Order: sequence, then structure tokens, then C-alpha cells
Amino acid sequence: MTNTDPDKKGGQIEVSKVTKTYGKRSFAKTVVLDCSFVIERNKLTVMIGPSGSGKSTMVRLLAGFEQPTTGSIMFNGQPVTKPSRERLVVFQETALYPWMTTYGNVAFGPTAQGRRGSSVKEAATAIIGQVGLKQFQTAYPHELSGGMQRRAELARALVNSPAVMILDEPFRGLDAMTKGLMEEYYSRLFETSGCTHFFITTDIDEAIYLADRLLIMSNAPLRVREVIDVDLPRPRRRADVIADDCANDLKMKALAILHEEAIKSFALGDQKAADFVEAYSRRYSGSRGRP
Ligand code: ADP
Ligand code: MG
Repeated sequence: MTNTDPDKKGGQIEVSKVTKTYGKRSFAKTVVLDCSFVIERNKLTVMIGPSGSGKSTMVRLLAGFEQPTTGSIMFNGQPVTKPSRERLVVFQETALYPWMTTYGNVAFGPTAQGRRGSSVKEAATAIIGQVGLKQFQTAYPHELSGGMQRRAELARALVNSPAVMILDEPFRGLDAMTKGLMEEYYSRLFETSGCTHFFITTDIDEAIYLADRLLIMSNAPLRVREVIDVDLPRPRRRADVIADDCANDLKMKALAILHEEAIKSFALGDQKAADFVEAYSRRYSGSRGRP
């Protein structure tokens, strides 16, 4: 079950009025604008927003790779000023070392932190088992399927027992069936991890299936459009969520907002394209207005 004991290891992140602007004067580009939200301790918060809206930029700020231009990011009450093992990021791109086996990759973090001997072996072996790669401990990344590589990456992050796991579109690019299985696998991992998770996606079904709380983001520059609590019981089964009326209502609400944002981004570049999308959406929603 999800760990909700505030004394346990999960961390909380508070983002307050964060703006991130790159460049100066006439070259200035604001990518994140006055963004505020809380990533609650031991919950799974999902951020969904259009491509190019500034989500990965927010990840770099949360991780401490970059600093906000204005506003603040607090981790357990302390300002985030640099990267930390407490806040680990799993990116979409594979970051496994190709010259190391699955075991080598997973054990690398704890070993680099100076941990030695049987505790590293026990922790790495246990987490490799949890992600279902026991038979592939001695395999190299190129010998693993895409889904297995993603699971090895999850294991590699989780073995370090971070307070917050940040996952930036980790399942993008996987085929639909593998992606569905990965989401179920990941959901179980979250439920047993006892830490805080922040998951980024552009996929509404993935978002609703996984989220305790959903942040629906605007088109660029990144702002919070809506926060929705997804009060579905855990452990969750995909089939149950798909059949759930409440989940479907949330999905429709989220889609309406995301669609509005997508139209805006079309309109920025090309009015004709925006008109087309709007007309299409009317037809799609069954309206008898304009074509
Ligand atoms: P998302 O992850 O939602 O697809 P990103 O955060 O990757 O969005 O990018 C959002 C926008 O921020 C893009 O238009 C990108 O060009 C811009 N951007 C990101 N990093 C920089 C940077 N270092 N300098 C200037 N613009 C940047
Ligand atoms: Mg991104």
C-alpha cells in the first residue's frame, strides 16, 4: 500500500511562483511562468501538458540542475540549490551504461556512494527481482528489450532509495502493449516504494491510471491550468480504471483543457491550422455548429 506516514523517507516539494526565463532583453524567452504547486509526500503526482510546454525545464529546476529566475522551490522546507541523491530523475532516453550488465548498472549507484559488500548485493538483487529482471542480471543493455531497459533504469534509480523520484516521460517511445504493461509494473513499484513520485507524461490514459493528483498544464509558457485529485483505490488494475465512470469523467475534463491548450499552440504558429483543429473538435464532439 502507499506509504502515507510523514515520518517515512518520502520528501515533499513546494514550487512557489516559479518563473524561468532564458536569454536577456530582446532575446529573453520565458519557458515557465508563475508556476505554483505542491508535490505531496508519498503521493504520485502526475504532470500532463502539451509537448514543448516546458515540462522538462521544470524537471531540471526540481532536480536542481538549473535555478528559477524568480520564485522558489523548497524540498522538505529547504531551498533546492543543487542536484541531490534525494531527488533522482529518470529520463526518457536510456542512461544505462552499455558496458555494464543489469546488475552492474543497478549496483553502480550504491557502490559509487561508498557502500560495499553484501548490503549492495542484497539491495541490488532485491530491486532487480522486483522489476522482473532476475533472469537478466548478467545481460548487457543491448541484450534487453525496450521495456526491460526501462525497468532496469527504474531499478537503478530506486536502489538508491531517493526521497523523490522524478520521471520525465519514461515510457515514451515504447510500443502500446509494452507501455501498458510498464505502467502496471510501475504502479506496483510506486505502491511499494514508500517514497514520493513525480511523473511527467503527454498521455491522458497513463496520467489518470497512475495519478493520485493530476496537474494539467498550459501550453508554453508552463503554468498550472487545473489540479485534479484522482481518488481511485490502490492497488489499481488498468481494466478497472478503464471501466470506471469517475475516471472517464476526469479524462473528459482533462482532455477539454488540454485540447484548448493544443489549439492555442496551433494558433500561435498558424491561424488556418487552429481553425482546422477547432472545426474538427466540433465535429468530434457531435456539435452541429460550424463544420
Ligand atoms: P517539454 O518537456 O514540455 O516538451 P521543454 O521544457 O523541453 O518542454 O521545452 C520548452 C521550451 O523551452 C522549448 O521551446 C525549448 O526550446 C525551450 N528551452 C528549453 N531549454 C532552453 C534553453 N536552455 N534556452 C532557451 N530555450 C530553452
Ligand atoms: Mg520534455
